[in-house]
Amino acid sequence: MITNKTIPARKTIALVAHDNKKQDIIEWALYNKGSLSRHKLCATGTTGSLLEQALDVKVHCLKSGPYGGDQQVGSRIAEGDIDLLIFFWDPLTQQPHDPDIKALLRLAVLWNIPVACDRASADFIISSPLMNVDYERPVPDLSAHMNRLKR
Ligand code: PGA
Repeated sequence: MITNKTIPARKTIALVAHDNKKQDIIEWALYNKGSLSRHKLCATGTTGSLLEQALDVKVHCLKSGPYGGDQQVGSRIAEGDIDLLIFFWDPLTQQPHDPDIKALLRLAVLWNIPVACDRASADFIISSPLMNVDYERPVPDLSAHMNRLKR
């Protein structure tokens, strides 16, 4: 069974970028500063501090990705505290925290939150009319899974 959770008009956006993609996310965020500043921003440590400096807006900074930041973002998604993920991951470089990256993407899909992994997708998401209104996000009802071993 599917239930709905409201993504509010003022969204909580998580931003993560690997080192080779940090310039990309900064340029993208500067270009979209007007739209982004209408929402709450949180990010992994280094990405967040760079964005805060570049945009001059408050960004809630978690731990750096390889130190647990990706897992913190994933945990917030599971708690329903993040509405949208902008994750510019690097397809050409091996990352020490590869399992965390996979886990983060898995949770984003499990919980059906919008995810952009490149600038073009991020452009489509940020310019969507749904960015400025409440949206009923269908989420999986896990009760059948939770009850699977009960008699
Ligand atoms: P960082 O983490 O923002 O602290 O660099 C991002 C990542 O590598 O997951």
